[in-house]
Amino acid sequence: MSKATNWLTALIVLSMVLGMLFGQFVLHDTADPINASHWTKSVGDLVLIRPLKLLVIPLIFFSVVAGITRIGDPSKLGKLGLSTLAYYFGTMLIAVVIGTTLVTMFQPGHLDADSAQVLQQEGLELFNASDSKKIQIEGMQAETLGSTWLNILRQCIPTNIIAEMANGRPLGLIVFAIGFGLALAAGGQRTEAARRFFNAAFEGMMILVQWVIWLTPIGVFFLMAWTVGTIGLETILGPLGSYMGVVLLGLAIHGLIILPLILWLLTRCRPYQFMWQMRRALLTAFGTDSSSATLPVTMDSAENEGGCSKRSSNFVLPLGATINMDGTALYEAVAVVFLFQLFGIELAFSELVVVVITATLAAVGAAGIPSAGLVTMVIVIAAVNSSLAGTGQQLPLAAIGVILGVDRIIDMCRTTVNVWGDATAAKVMTLVAPDEVVAALDE
Ligand code: ASP
Repeated sequence: MSKATNWLTALIVLSMVLGMLFGQFVLHDTADPINASHWTKSVGDLVLIRPLKLLVIPLIFFSVVAGITRIGDPSKLGKLGLSTLAYYFGTMLIAVVIGTTLVTMFQPGHLDADSAQVLQQEGLELFNASDSKKIQIEGMQAETLGSTWLNILRQCIPTNIIAEMANGRPLGLIVFAIGFGLALAAGGQRTEAARRFFNAAFEGMMILVQWVIWLTPIGVFFLMAWTVGTIGLETILGPLGSYMGVVLLGLAIHGLIILPLILWLLTRCRPYQFMWQMRRALLTAFGTDSSSATLPVTMDSAENEGGCSKRSSNFVLPLGATINMDGTALYEAVAVVFLFQLFGIELAFSELVVVVITATLAAVGAAGIPSAGLVTMVIVIAAVNSSLAGTGQQLPLAAIGVILGVDRIIDMCRTTVNVWGDATAAKVMTLVAPDEVVAALDE
């Protein structure tokens, strides 16, 4: 492990702590709360989020094309693709079951009548006051599960790849890059130059990523300061404390026990050592709230420190940043059941099954950007509401306002688990396919 990497990690941790202290003691003021246009947020965006986002689309394109040309054979790609999808859906399902079990066990939404009333009222007011979120959430309301899936399928088969790139939609780009990579691999001698071009372009992108990564400590300082300044650390002790506690407990169980266990069972590698090797990516996810913006750092850590083969991580990680969201799936399940509990609506086992299925699918549909999970949660609420249709009990959409205020803190933690889930997949796919190991050693 290089000295520079250790320095960078130390700097990121230091700036995170300093950012929290600055946010809590200098910016946080309940009488005059700071908002999304506060200068700290703008500086964090400019210094870190925008440069990382700038890299994401070209990085996905070059990395998937280069990765696929290395894999070459469509049947090997098919095996890798199916195993990756099975791993992603399997781990998301486990995450949702953990979340649903914990929220049913601890019942954080069963408060005394007065506290519940106050929370409901405040939530409603917050929902109506937060214009942009309200519009996004109400826009989502029109989406049924079926239309969400149709939308995802449409994104997989785009008609204009430039438009997909321009709009930052990675799914179609990945599908196109897979097809193009396969064609370059099939072209033999005729496409040799293009294969070398894409591999070299990918190396160039990764060098650029390594430069941009040095902005992480500065960006993370301002983003942490803004988050803590907006919310305040004391909210952890407030009436939403037990809800937050259940989400965080679930994330900890999934991230620190279940995923390491799966990794160990499938590969026999040391999971916590791998977690340590991935630390820069995990810290960046925590600081930026975006698995998509973290993708460049995830790829750099996985390949240069985590011992993941290029052939697997080039393909597995971009796909994971787009569809694999263990933390988001778990959080959506806990949040939805919590809201139903708070509004006095008891969910039967059959509704909990609806939650498990729809939360997994809604998490797949969530983009790797801040608060995406909060918005796609509407799909889960709508599905449970329609399952309750005969009972006359319905959860109003504005109920989401209750958890709006503390969402950012939870987002930091669930994004970290999302990225950790992607990283474990890259490791598994490196080690379970023996030819991948040979390729990694060759490179
Ligand atoms: N912020 C999350 C991510 O980027 C998505 C979400 O749950 O809101 O992975």
